[in-house]
Amino acid sequence: MSEVVNDIRQAMANHELKAYYQPQYDSITSRLKSAEALARWVRPDGVIVPPMAFIPELERTGNIAEVDWYICEEVCKLLKKQKSDGGKQVPISVNFSRFHVREPDFAEKLTALVDSYELEHRLICVEVTESAMVNEADLILNWISSIRAEGFAVAIDDFGSGLSSLSFAKDVPADILKIDKSLLSGNCENEKERIVLECIFAFANRLGISTVAEGVETREQLEFLRTCDCKKIQGYIFAKPMPEEDYLELCRTHTKIEQTADILQAQAPASAVNLLLGVIFKKYPLIIFSNLTRNSFYMMAYENFTSTSCPSTGVFDELIMHGASTMHPDDQQSFAETFARENLLKAHADDKPEVRLTTRQIGDDGVYRRVETVDYFVKSESSDDVLVITLCENR
Ligand code: C2E
Ligand code: MG
Ligand code: MG
Repeated sequence: MSEVVNDIRQAMANHELKAYYQPQYDSITSRLKSAEALARWVRPDGVIVPPMAFIPELERTGNIAEVDWYICEEVCKLLKKQKSDGGKQVPISVNFSRFHVREPDFAEKLTALVDSYELEHRLICVEVTESAMVNEADLILNWISSIRAEGFAVAIDDFGSGLSSLSFAKDVPADILKIDKSLLSGNCENEKERIVLECIFAFANRLGISTVAEGVETREQLEFLRTCDCKKIQGYIFAKPMPEEDYLELCRTHTKIEQTADILQAQAPASAVNLLLGVIFKKYPLIIFSNLTRNSFYMMAYENFTSTSCPSTGVFDELIMHGASTMHPDDQQSFAETFARENLLKAHADDKPEVRLTTRQIGDDGVYRRVETVDYFVKSESSDDVLVITLCENR
């Protein structure tokens, strides 16, 4: 047996193999959100052996699985301790080598381990490197789904370090994408690098995948990542991986690591738009985009709107018929006429900026309420079609 494998087996038996914890912070509020467990061999002579000195050899010889399970159990013990001490439990990521993808019943095994410590599954995140994905997409996707089906989170580690496949990233049902530190140069001043990073974060955000930037060391990197809408930060700028006791102490005492960034300066344009949309939806719970020329519509949302029976996209004429049918009998005709497509097109041809009407509409609860519907004609730079944005407000 290789010397390294022997050493690590001994280290596990003597409890010299330890999990160190590196905190992950919310990029905007700087609050502690989660952590990653990283293996260290703390030798009796005080030397701390980093994982790169033994993990590759353990992987090469097919002996990594036992280390991963050992670290995972250390994490369970720590979370259990946090619970019994009455502290707040913070989710922790555990690295699992790609070999586990072929481990039968991985999800069951993880469940059994975590359940034996009576922990909530959401507290454990399985981290697997992006390089594990190459050539085995189907296998990996099923493996990830089986883990998530048990309520654990899954993070794709080292994204962007190897041959990142966008088609894989598109399909992967992961919760978190960890952006590799190799994508971040010293101060993120390179224009191309910035564009690539912005796109990765935008892409992950649009797909509803959370993001962690790894290896963040400088103020400039942090500021830039904030503008990219990166969700969490893991790096020396906030904290290095630390022994269990230090980490527990940090969790006990931590409030915030620094002055919170001014959200308006730190956020990317996309988040500013989201803030704006939040306010608009407060006033107008239903917003509809229609193309009168093409007889189509797209409904943005009907949060808080009293009637939710309409499909979210389809034929404009049918939308108006449906809308009319939800109105008070005395209002149905005026609604159908006011918003009939030919009448709207005529109003547009007459240079009217908007068409508005207040009616009584029945809600899902069977109660009639006054609704003001306003159709604003809008111009698009890319089309001559007659477009309308409808804002509906409960009155
Ligand atoms: P990883 O999972 O990508 O972990 C992140 C690595 O980046 C860690 O190195 C961490 O210490 C380092 N890091 C974090 N912030 C910074 C920073 O600001 N600057 C720099 N330069 N580095 C930073 P570490 O602990 O040496 O671990 C290296 C790799 O070893 C890990 O990369 C992971 O792939 C592997 N590893 C660690 N523990 C385990 C384990 O229990 N099982 C398995 N299978 N792999 C493990
Ligand atoms: Mg990792
Ligand atoms: Mg990584």
